[in-house]
Formats: sequence, structure tokens, C-alpha cells
Amino acid sequence: FRNPDAKEFHYFANMEIRNNLLAELKKKYLNDLLNYYDEKEAEQLLTILIEHFFEISRNELIINSNHRLSESEILKLHKAYKELKQYKPVQYITGVVEFHGLKIKVNSAVLIPRPETEELVQLVTDLETSMDLIVLDTGTGSGCIAIGLSSLLKRANIHASDICENAINIARKNAELNNQHILFHIHDILNNEEPLLDRNGEKVMFDIVISNPPYVTLEDKKKMHPNVIDYEPSSALFVTDENPLEYYLSILQFCEKNLVLGGRLYFEINEGMGDEVVSLLKRCNYSDIVLRRDINGKFRFVSSKKGNT
Ligand code: GLN
Repeated sequence: FRNPDAKEFHYFANMEIRNNLLAELKKKYLNDLLNYYDEKEAEQLLTILIEHFFEISRNELIINSNHRLSESEILKLHKAYKELKQYKPVQYITGVVEFHGLKIKVNSAVLIPRPETEELVQLVTDLETSMDLIVLDTGTGSGCIAIGLSSLLKRANIHASDICENAINIARKNAELNNQHILFHIHDILNNEEPLLDRNGEKVMFDIVISNPPYVTLEDKKKMHPNVIDYEPSSALFVTDENPLEYYLSILQFCEKNLVLGGRLYFEINEGMGDEVVSLLKRCNYSDIVLRRDINGKFRFVSSKKGNT
């Protein structure tokens, strides 16, 4: 065998799997995964893989327990199962996540979109009803916020930026995949002297700036699961314990020159940093500052308006 995976598969197929029934393979994998995940999670993970690779839902598999896989299909599932055992997040195995009803591709250059961030998109669309808004999502990663907003705020003009070129590449693909027009910028928010330019090379003034920047402290990191720490891009997650608000400070600095007076700023935040972010916004002369909870009851978002008018 030239391909070691194929060799392993044949060994595996001969020794352990006497047939190619998907339901039986699933049972076997489920049993093995119990050493790594609890039963409910292991079942969910396998269901996601099976739905993704073979387009068979959990219920269909129960009804049609005679579904057989080809060798290449078994190999695919086996490879994914091995990755699960390494705690690779299932979203990076399938390469796709559903976000606000949209399909968003992900790879190791970008954070896996979280349900909280879907809530942030919903919050902005609930509050922002005027037409023709010019919006920036800074630190866009997979592009999920920008693309979500673009699909919901039909007439808005959406820009998205990220320091990471690989992130911008996948965000661009995601925008295309979801038929959304977004202007992407490779831009370091920590070095924000230069303005962002539109297609005509003119400086853009934004009506809304939104961001889910890195906000996890090294203290928080100690409590995190290895599948986050080992696989997700640390540059998208972590801040130093000395300067945990670094990104918020830089975004506010950027907004001094690039957000219109009366423009709105929306942040996703670390649940433990609500008070600090609110005081920071007050100091920078923002008004209508509202700290908001996520579905888990944690203070996760802050909305505010530039100036006091
Ligand atoms: N909410 C994410 C997590 O807990 C962190 C997102 C971020 O740092 N912006 O993993």
C-alpha cells in the first residue's frame, strides 16, 4: 500500500469490520469514542460527520440500517474518527459551520463561529433599521459577522477587515458562496493610523463598527478545552493579562477618525470584562451604552453610540 491510511484501513476492515454497514460502523466508533467524549457528545459528533459526508440524517440511519458504504467512504469516516480522537473540532473536520442559516467554511486560519456571535448579528439587525448604512466588521476571521449582516441588512454597504491574509481569503470565499458583496481589507487594527479606502480609493467613514476581537486571557485559557487551544488560531483568541482590552482600545482609537459622530459601536466581550469595557466607552465619550447578556445569561455584548447627541 502506498497510502498508509489505506493500509490501516485494510487492516481495520479485515480485522474489525466484517461488513460495510454504516449503522454498525457508527456503533463501533461510538463505543470507541466513549473513551474521549461523553456519550451524548460522541453521538452528536458522529451524526454530524455522517450527515456531512453521506447526507444521511440520524433518523434516516435508524430507519435504513442497511445503508452500506463504499471503501472510500469507510476510509473517509475512519480518517475523521481518528481526528476526533485527537480532539480536532468537528467543524474543522467537515470544514463548514452553519451560522445564522448560512453556510460558512472554516479552516485553521479562522475561529469557529460561536452561537454567541450569531446573537451579536441578530442584535445589530434588530437595532439598525435605517437603509444605506456603511458597516465595518473588524477582525472578521471567517467573515461570519460581515456575511450575516450583509444577508440581513439588505441595503447596507459592508466592509470587513482582518490582519490575516489567510482569513481574508476564506472570508472572501464565504461571501461568494453566500452571494454577498463585501469589501475586504487586510488591515491591522493595532496599527490603525491609515484609513480604510473604498473601491474608488476614497476614505470610508463608517456608520457602524462591530467586532468580536480576541478577548480570552491566559487565566481563562487554563480552563479551556484542548480542542480549542490546540486547533483554533491563538491570534484570534488570546490577549495578554497585562493588556486584555488592547483590541477595544485600538478599535476606539480607529473610531475617533473613522466612525461618524452618532455612529454605533458593537462589541462581543469577555463575560468578565463588561464593567471595564463600559467605563472605557464612557471615557471615550460614548453614550447609550448597554451591556447585554447572551443566551447563557453571560454579559457578552456592549452596544453604544459615539458622542452625546
Ligand atoms: N467566545 C470565544 C471562546 O470562548 C472567544 C472569542 C474571542 O476571543 N473573540 O472561545
